[in-house]
Amino acid sequence: MRILLLSDIHANYEALDACLNTAPPHDIVVNLGDIVGYGASPNEVMEVCRSIGERFVRGNHDKAVATLAGIEDFNPVAAQAVQWTRSHLTPENLAWLNALPQGPLQLENLPGTQFAHGSPLDEDEYIVNTQEAEIPLKAASCPLTFIGHTHIQGAFAYVEEAVKFEWPRYRIPGSSENVELQLQGGARYLINPGSVGQPRDGDWRAAFAVYDSGAQVVTFCRTPYNVKAAQERILAAGLPPRLASRLSVGR
Ligand code: ZN
Repeated sequence: MRILLLSDIHANYEALDACLNTAPPHDIVVNLGDIVGYGASPNEVMEVCRSIGERFVRGNHDKAVATLAGIEDFNPVAAQAVQWTRSHLTPENLAWLNALPQGPLQLENLPGTQFAHGSPLDEDEYIVNTQEAEIPLKAASCPLTFIGHTHIQGAFAYVEEAVKFEWPRYRIPGSSENVELQLQGGARYLINPGSVGQPRDGDWRAAFAVYDSGAQVVTFCRTPYNVKAAQERILAAGLPPRLASRLSVGR
């Protein structure tokens, strides 16, 4: 089975559209959460997400928009975007967002693999470095966990008693690129497909991944998108300008 992994779309319609137009062949879509928040196209993005897949875990922004839970931990810019999104979603989309399940999620025909927003142990926890990855890598109930939340694409691997971080080595800035990671038997992984709509790893291109469970290969993908159009929508919506400017630099 080939799974298209989308995470942290953050209401960026232009980025989502580019990902879907360049995605390698896949059988199903799993969405790792933070569909909304920050960007200016929450209804448009939700409608696309709902039409392409039925497997979702909620993100902290989805939860905050739906219920205001956890908003006290958000910085002022993020909290402003939560309130803006809450007031612009259709009642139906708001109800749908509120019904999203908490991770980790497992698929009936995919043993040993799970999907979460933050850590498999805590949906709100950020796993940024190998120290933070060690406990969830060892304690996760599945050897392979796909996560989002940090907006940083790459794989934490626990192999032969050591934790390492592997990230895709891209070569052609500004173009669509794919880099494959062959998973090793016996290793444990936390793999982040990166953020579709607000990358923070210094590469402005939209990030996502495809996992081929038969071949045990994760293909990391980057694709350029119409950043200017996404930025103009954010500014026209009256959202904080920082949410527009950061998209150009992937930070
Ligand atoms: Zn996010």
